[in-house]
Amino acid sequence: MTRVYNFSAGPSMLPEAVLKQAQSELLDFQGSGMSLMEMSHRGKHFSTIAAALEQDLRDLMRIPENYRVLFLQGGASAQFSFIPQNILGDKHKACYIKTGAWSQKAIQDAQSYCETVITASSEDTNFTDIPDASTWQNDENAAYLHYTSNETIHGVEFNYVPDAKGLPLVCDMSSNILSRHIDVNDFGLIYAGSQKNMGPAGVTLVIVRDDLLGKCAKTVPSVFNYSEQVKNQSMLNTPNTYSWYLMGLVLQWVQAQGGVEAIEQHNIAKAAKLYAAIDASSLFRNPVEKSCRSRMNVPFILADETLDSAFLSAAQSSGLNELKGHRSVGGMRASIYNAMPDSGIEALIRFMQEFERTH
Ligand SMILES: *Cc1c(COP(=O)(O)O)cnc(C)c1O
Repeated sequence: MTRVYNFSAGPSMLPEAVLKQAQSELLDFQGSGMSLMEMSHRGKHFSTIAAALEQDLRDLMRIPENYRVLFLQGGASAQFSFIPQNILGDKHKACYIKTGAWSQKAIQDAQSYCETVITASSEDTNFTDIPDASTWQNDENAAYLHYTSNETIHGVEFNYVPDAKGLPLVCDMSSNILSRHIDVNDFGLIYAGSQKNMGPAGVTLVIVRDDLLGKCAKTVPSVFNYSEQVKNQSMLNTPNTYSWYLMGLVLQWVQAQGGVEAIEQHNIAKAAKLYAAIDASSLFRNPVEKSCRSRMNVPFILADETLDSAFLSAAQSSGLNELKGHRSVGGMRASIYNAMPDSGIEALIRFMQEFERTH
């Protein structure tokens, strides 16, 4: 068996230790004679897993007592609609920072429920930077300020937490959660799909401050009503039990790496190495302004795009998979989430240097 380096943007590679543990427990979970997949979500084994999942996340992110942690379904995409419906309350506006494809989608969906005020937009630079905070226009009558901390497609990441000027700050952290230290107290609501940095697809994490609960529109299905899910420990309907389990294993792996702060140092070093190689090359180029380059998703363009398909097929033959950029931006993209080891970054850099030498 040969495992490749998988640079997919998501679902993305998982730590090998997690896959091996899952494999070893697949048929007989801890002497129960059953797979965890076959067990009741109300039973003893799964209850233990669910409690540990929440506690481990609270420990890793130092989530304060006045925040609820929900594990929902429907992906981050469902939250684009359910956030406004849950927390607008009697307000009719919400502010959004538009820095790429994902914040754009969040805005589009929110427009069905409220007026969306664009606090700042980098659309005029093709989403290659973040407008200076001094130019932002917040509306003080808005219910919240939303931003996307890492734009997975455009490779743009905030290296700071925006000042929401008193509004509750709402953040889509799908592609950089657990990759860097954040202070949860700065946020009203954090949400993220599981399939980039936390596990396989199928779980949507919502971390919400208590004062934002209890305002949900009556038209919202109860499985997407945060207060209802809080009352039911995210089990108003049958959860995606196996994904919860795998996410729990990933959290334990993060703990074993030294926690979020240790992982962050590792991520800084991995991204710096790859950007340095791109910047030193005359064939490859990263289009993003240096101060907001993503540590997680590194897009790069070949000077001669007729070489794109040769690059991709040669990369794949070298065990470097899923490097094709998103169809909306083209070029290449290396997603280097927490689970991507140093050896994967080094193999990619060696391959790129060799490709440049021979083309
Ligand atoms: C992947 C991604 C999403 C969409 O996640 P789904 O789980 O497919 O709904 C949303 N926002 C960001 C930043 C993403 O990277």
